[in-house]
Amino acid sequence: MPITLPPLNRRSFVKSAIAFGIGGSIPSFLFDSIAFGETVQRSPECWILASDTHVSELPDTRQQNAAFQTMVRDISQLPTQPTGMIISGDCAVLQGKIGDYKQIIEYLKPLRESGIKIHAALGNHDNRQNFLQAFPEVTPTKKNPRLKVKAVRNDDSTNNTKQVDVIETKHANWFILDSLAKTNETPGSFGKQQLTWLADELDARREKPALIIAHHNPDVLVGQGLLDTADFAKVIQPRPQVKAYIYGHTHFWGTSRMDNLHIINLPSTAWLFNDNAVLAWVVATLHEKGITLELKTIDKKDKRNNTKVEINYDG
Ligand SMILES: [Zn+2]
Repeated sequence: MPITLPPLNRRSFVKSAIAFGIGGSIPSFLFDSIAFGETVQRSPECWILASDTHVSELPDTRQQNAAFQTMVRDISQLPTQPTGMIISGDCAVLQGKIGDYKQIIEYLKPLRESGIKIHAALGNHDNRQNFLQAFPEVTPTKKNPRLKVKAVRNDDSTNNTKQVDVIETKHANWFILDSLAKTNETPGSFGKQQLTWLADELDARREKPALIIAHHNPDVLVGQGLLDTADFAKVIQPRPQVKAYIYGHTHFWGTSRMDNLHIINLPSTAWLFNDNAVLAWVVATLHEKGITLELKTIDKKDKRNNTKVEINYDG
């Protein structure tokens, strides 16, 4: 069944694609904003961070689909509206079916229509081809040659391009990376080519804090997270502008520090892996010296709802 998407704001998409030289990637265009008049209070510093939404095309897996719709409704009722939303992977339930992505598109429509731009990283339950196929607007074509600019090559056997993005904001730059290695297999990796790209892009932006977001957790022991964590560390450790690594995958909410690097584990909206976890998403407000994270639980009765964590870059 075809999904009718509202028209994209093509002009701003092309502009941002050219600016970063990586158009055609999934994150930068995904659901471009369609402003119907800015009657709400919208903050360019306010972002929604969500992860592991695991939306399904099937009506019989309604738990995560219902939770996703609850999140969308709650976002649209925030007194200060965000400028953008980043989903850090595992958008789809297990295998990244086109129908899963069409379902997500349908659910996200109210946010797009209100002017929120939505970006997605890829997780181990996403499928790169299906993701792109579900969003034909972003696949470079002869009609849109200007969209056909370089993406980051993947050095694994799948021969797909990794889908990456940089979003520049007033106080910090978001770097959205792609750690999907093989669909429906748990571990992930960035690969050498993407890490080289990351190093170059970081070097081109030394002045502002860099916030890196991807699906997989740092993992040097277990082998179920980011397999090339050591190579990733070699890129970010010598670059002091990298202030935070943000990821999902573990379906757990928590923040910690590794020396000067803030580690932010985003919760899932879909399901829990242990009793202490919480189904939730996060409002992230960027300021000059850090980020205010506010947890928003799917179940409003959860006492963790609205709790805040202050990330101070130099604290
Ligand atoms: Zn997940």
